[in-house]
Amino acid sequence: MRVDEPPHLLSDLRTVKLPTVAAHWERLALEAQRKRQPHADYLSELMGLEVAKRRENRIRRLTQEARFPVLKTLDAFDFEAQKAVDRDAVLELARGDFVREQHNVVLVGGVGTGKTHLAIALGLACCQHELRVRFTTAAEMTNQLVEAKAEGKLSRKLEHFARYDLVLLDELGYVPFDREGANLLFGFVTRVYERRSLVVTTNLPFARWSEVFLDATAAAAVIDRVVHHATILKTDGESYRLRDARQGRRKRKEVDPT
Ligand code: ADP
Ligand code: MG
Repeated sequence: MRVDEPPHLLSDLRTVKLPTVAAHWERLALEAQRKRQPHADYLSELMGLEVAKRRENRIRRLTQEARFPVLKTLDAFDFEAQKAVDRDAVLELARGDFVREQHNVVLVGGVGTGKTHLAIALGLACCQHELRVRFTTAAEMTNQLVEAKAEGKLSRKLEHFARYDLVLLDELGYVPFDREGANLLFGFVTRVYERRSLVVTTNLPFARWSEVFLDATAAAAVIDRVVHHATILKTDGESYRLRDARQGRRKRKEVDPT
């Protein structure tokens, strides 16, 4: 059995940009002949491949554009080791509705307790729902805003960040801001308030945010905006890395008690 290539097919497919159809039409046509598949089913199967491939490409592009420092997934998160965080609540967030509703997530807890892991995993899940996501740290974002302001490009920079459906702001509280930095970050939060979503990770309880924002009024205003429509997830316990290292040692001892 064979199929002849229609004379204009490939150039037409190029013109209308259907590369996956171009790559698979012949194989599926042969299969359709063999199976005596109805034409409509052949067409539908072929278009299904094109649509699936485009979606895959779009998700890959969104994942790259998110600039995650490493890729972390919810599958790789050990909820048994982090009992303070409700697994179902996280899985619910991973459906992406909080982003569609312009809600926020705040992850609060000590060092090494999985905050960044969860933030990245939620961001990745949102990429898979074809949402525009951007990972950054509070320090990096603030530096960028300060630089942009110095170059007279602040509004362009704010616009850039406001284009994303979800901004992941990691490590708020690790580095205190100067007054200008604090004001600029406050300006960003105000700008995206109720229009975009934020996932903020922080080692500081809200009561101590004034240490980052230098003054209690600015801190209160940021907390007010971020926490209004937010899911707060508290992580606790000791650092997962330390625990991991110690358990590794213990396991090795069990195997070899000498
Ligand atoms: P934090 O941001 O709270 O300081 P991280 O999310 O960076 O902590 O976690 C530190 C390391 O431990 C990362 O490699 C992370 O993947 C891992 N980790 C932390 N908690 C868990 C967990 N419950 N299950 C699996 N890996 C975890
Ligand atoms: Mg972290």
